[in-house]
Amino acid sequence: MARWPEGASVTALKNEVHIAGGGLAGLSLAAGLRRREVPVVVHEAGHYPRHRVCGEFISGVDEAVLDELGVAACLDDARRPRSLSWYRRDRLVMRDELPVAAWAISRHCLDQRLAREVVRLGGRVVEGSRRPREAREGLVWAAGRQPRRGRWIGLKAHFRGLEMDSGLEMHLGRSGYVGLCRVEGDRVNACGLFTLDRRIRGGGMMMNYLRREGLDGLARRLESVGMDGGSFSAVAGFRLGWQGGGGCGVGDAVGMIPPFTGNGMSMAFESARDALDPLDAWSRGAASWEGVLAELRRRSRRRFARRLSAAAVMQGVMLNRAGQALLERLGRAGWLPFRPMLSLVR
Ligand SMILES: Cc1cc2nc3c(=O)[nH]c(=O)nc-3n(C[C@H](O)[C@H](O)[C@H](O)COP(=O)(O)OP(=O)(O)OC[C@H]3O[C@@H](n4cnc5c(N)ncnc54)[C@H](O)[C@@H]3O)c2cc1C
Repeated sequence: MARWPEGASVTALKNEVHIAGGGLAGLSLAAGLRRREVPVVVHEAGHYPRHRVCGEFISGVDEAVLDELGVAACLDDARRPRSLSWYRRDRLVMRDELPVAAWAISRHCLDQRLAREVVRLGGRVVEGSRRPREAREGLVWAAGRQPRRGRWIGLKAHFRGLEMDSGLEMHLGRSGYVGLCRVEGDRVNACGLFTLDRRIRGGGMMMNYLRREGLDGLARRLESVGMDGGSFSAVAGFRLGWQGGGGCGVGDAVGMIPPFTGNGMSMAFESARDALDPLDAWSRGAASWEGVLAELRRRSRRRFARRLSAAAVMQGVMLNRAGQALLERLGRAGWLPFRPMLSLVR
């Protein structure tokens, strides 16, 4: 029978897991692994805290998932919005409530909290460490979307003191949309997905995109309060849906759901949770790396295939003129099957 070396901790006897990418998926995976005493190093290309393009509205994740990852406390004081309203080009289409309250918290705050939690649990977080993409044993790819040419641009900024008529306001424009939700204090996050127009650039980018979308009323509302210029962020060069790329991946690196669902961060948490058992087993020497890859692929297909397909179809309808007109008519008549539609993307 193998003897434990004198004074060795459980951690010292396990294989170390390296995670490239310290966003929600990478950090929550690291926290969950540390709770199982798996040695973990997270390599993050950037530095905390930092603003990221994100609606900052977390909907659809089960609290048991957050508990298992050990990150529930990071959301303790987050706002819990439940009501929502949908507008089409500044006209109210419908109001409703989510079956379960969401969480609203800035990524500026949340990612830093998660990174601190990983360190508190005994993990290492190396900031300013950009890793090359490689498929090597022990390396988990959590670096977010695959950079590639794409038709989208995501923009986000915080605005102070904006009045809102519900916990989440969704505004549909001609070919894009914007979500508003209140995060810390009097900050409201405005985040949109638009079709990229390379002629729109520079300081007034967000307002120019809103006006191109026919969202003049929303642009005026946002202009009437102050934008926190330091929170403005933009991202382009990505595609939604399965990302491909092989290797061991979690979060957006595996699949990116259209943002209107408010479910991308939940998917990041869920995929991190799904990776815990296989990586823990590999770390103990009880599973091969090939076995880990096969199991993660199987789990992500089973968990995410339906919602990625349904969300792609729904977004296509939402961003098409005839589809929008139909949604508006159904919404105003109170016939839009909002909850069944929501359950397809959860
Ligand atoms: C416009 C828009 C709005 C959105 N709104 C919402 C919303 O309201 N609700 C929601 O749930 N989801 C939303 N999402 C999706 C959500 O932001 C993502 O699903 C979520 O951030 C995925 O987390 P992640 O950890 O996989 O990736 P990320 O959060 O992107 O983290 C990846 C990390 O990896 C780092 N990195 C990148 N390359 C390397 C490298 N080579 N080496 C080391 N580190 C690297 C990056 O710096 C980053 O910190 C939105 C997305 C967009 C584009």
